[in-house]
Amino acid sequence: MKALFDGLEMGIKEKFAKIKLLCLDFDGTLTDRGVYVGEDNLESVKCDRADGLGLEFVRKYCGIDVVILSRETNKVVATRAKKLKIPCTHGLNDKLGNFLEEIKSRNLMKFVLSEMI
Ligand SMILES: [Mg+2]
Repeated sequence: MKALFDGLEMGIKEKFAKIKLLCLDFDGTLTDRGVYVGEDNLESVKCDRADGLGLEFVRKYCGIDVVILSRETNKVVATRAKKLKIPCTHGLNDKLGNFLEEIKSRNLMKFVLSEMI
């Protein structure tokens, strides 16, 4: 993967360097939005291994923090996040509030505000 990053055009690397944080939802973002329901009421979802590789690439080589914020209460969210080595908070009622906390904790609010003005 390092060779892939090294081979990127400088302009692309500069664009990656401007991105500090990638906050992801789970359902429909890291899944295909489907759910498998067993007769025991256990739910399963389908994820794409390519997403894991892509997220590893942006974390390790582009220096972008990645977090998962989800309303979903099912433990599959935390299980997948653990496998991807991505911090995760799920079962959220206030995703926007948690998103703002992620921004504040990284002292990125000034960048958000400067982009909005
Ligand atoms: Mg979603």
